[in-house]
Amino acid sequence: MAKKTTPQLDFNSSWNYAPAPEDTKHINLKKQYELFIDGKFVKPAKGKYFETINPANEEVLAKVAEADETDVNKAVKAARNAYNNVWSKMPAAERGKYIYRIARLMQERAREFAVIETLDGGKPIRESRDIDVPLAANHFFYYAGWADKLAYAFPNRKPQALGVAGQIIPWNFPLLMAAWKIAPALACGNTVVLKPAETTPLTALKLAEIIQESGLPNGVVNIVTGAGKTGAAIVNHPDIDKIAFTGSTDVGKIIQKSIAGTNKKLTLELGGKAAHIIFEDAPIDQAVEGIVNGIFFNQGHVCCAGSRLFVQEGVADMVIRKLKDRLETLIVGDPLDKNTDIGAINSKGQLETIHKYLKIGKEEGADMYQSNCSIPKKGYFCRPTLFLNTSQSHRIVQEEIFGPVLTIQTFRTVEEVIEKANNIPYGLSAGVWTDKGSKIFNLTTKLRAGVVWANTYNKFDPTSPFGGYKESGFGREGGMHGLSAYLKF
Ligand code: ADP
Repeated sequence: MAKKTTPQLDFNSSWNYAPAPEDTKHINLKKQYELFIDGKFVKPAKGKYFETINPANEEVLAKVAEADETDVNKAVKAARNAYNNVWSKMPAAERGKYIYRIARLMQERAREFAVIETLDGGKPIRESRDIDVPLAANHFFYYAGWADKLAYAFPNRKPQALGVAGQIIPWNFPLLMAAWKIAPALACGNTVVLKPAETTPLTALKLAEIIQESGLPNGVVNIVTGAGKTGAAIVNHPDIDKIAFTGSTDVGKIIQKSIAGTNKKLTLELGGKAAHIIFEDAPIDQAVEGIVNGIFFNQGHVCCAGSRLFVQEGVADMVIRKLKDRLETLIVGDPLDKNTDIGAINSKGQLETIHKYLKIGKEEGADMYQSNCSIPKKGYFCRPTLFLNTSQSHRIVQEEIFGPVLTIQTFRTVEEVIEKANNIPYGLSAGVWTDKGSKIFNLTTKLRAGVVWANTYNKFDPTSPFGGYKESGFGREGGMHGLSAYLKF
C-alpha cells in the first residue's frame, strides 16, 4: 500500500505565470541627454557625460550630461532672472494654469513615464504605473489648486515666495520626488534648480520635456544632472534661498553644516527604519499583506519602508509562518513584467550594501531566512529576506539597509513595544495593526515618527504631510505643510 503523505504546496510551480512584459516600443529615449537650463537643452560646460544603466540587465540606457559649478551657476542665474522678471510678477492664478498643464501632460504620457521609471530605476512596472506616475501628476494637480489661494491657507499672514529653490532628490522615487519638490515650490511663486540622482536621471529629464512643452516661462524650472559634486555646487551657491533635500542622513548632515550661517532655508527628508507593529487582536492576514507591501514590494527602496517588524508573542509563530509562506509566492525578476513583485536593486553599489548587511546580520547571530525563488543571472537582484532572533542592539535592527530585508522581534506589552520602536536614531514612519481604535490613538501619540499608518501601510496622498523626527530630518512635504516650506511670512 502506498504511503500516505501530507500534501505540500509546491509554490514554485503553482505560482508560475506566463511572462507579461510591458511594451517598450512606445517610449522615446534619446541616446544622450543635455542639461535643461533657461528653457533649453544645453551641453555641459566641460562636455562631460555619464552613463545611466538599466539595473535589471546592466545595459546602458543613455548618456547624461554632468553639470559642474559653471553649469549650476548658469542654472541659478536663469532661475533668478525668471523669478525677478517673470514668475514673481505673474498673477497667481496664471501660475496655477501652468502647473495644471504640467499635470495634464504628465497624465497624457503616463505610460511612457512609467516604463522609463522602471527601466532606469529597476522598480516593478506595477509600482511605477499605479503609484509613482499617478501620484506625481496628483501632486501637480493638488498644488496647482493652491497657487491662487495662499492667502486662504495662511490667513492674516501675508505669505511670500522665497526666491530660488535648490532641490536635490534621491533614486528611489525619481519622478515622484521631483513632483513633491517642484509643484509646491512653483505654486508658492518660487523658481527652481533641481538635481535628480545620478543613477535615475531620466524621468526628471522627460519632465523637463513636458515643462518645455507646457510653455512654462524659461528659467522657472531648471534641471541639472550629475552626482554629489553637482549637488554640492547647488547647496553652496550663494544666490539660492532655499535647499530642499531628500536622501541619506550622512549627506543631509553635510548639507546642514554647509549652509549653517547662511540665510538659506532648509528642509531635509532623510533615512528611516520604520517599526511595523502587530498586536494579537490584529487582522492577521491583512497585516501580513501589509508587511509584504511595506518592505518587499519596491525592493525595500522606500525611506518609510516597514523594515523592523514587532509581533506580539501570542501570534508570533502564526505571523512568521504566514510570512514565510507569502515570501515563497513573491516573484523576483524582470521589472517590466506585470507579474513581478520585487524588481531590480537600483545599483550595483546598493546591492553590495544589502549583501554587506546580510553578512553582518548572520555574524551578529540572527537567523536568516530567504525565499527559495530563482533570481535572474544578469542584473542586480536580491531575494526577500527575514532575520529572526534579532535584538535591539543588532546593527541590522538599528541601521537603514534600503533593501528587501525585514528584521523580526517579538514583544509582550504596549509599553515594551513603544520603547523598542522609539529606541532608534530615525523617526520617519511606523505602522500599527490592531482591532482597537484606542490602542491606535495611544500609539500614534507615543511613537516618535512623522507618519503612523493604522491597519494599512505606505499609503500616500498629496494632501497629507510627510516628514521625519530625529535623524530622519525636518520640515514637511505634502499638504498645506508642504506650502509653508516654500514661503516666508
Ligand atoms: P542615497 O544613499 O539615497 O543614494 P544620497 O544622499 O547619497 O542618498 O543621494 C541623494 C542625492 O544627494 C543624490 O541626488 C546625490 O547625487 C546627492 N548628493 C550626494 N552627495 C551630495 C553632497 N555632498 N551635496 C549635495 N548633494 C549630494
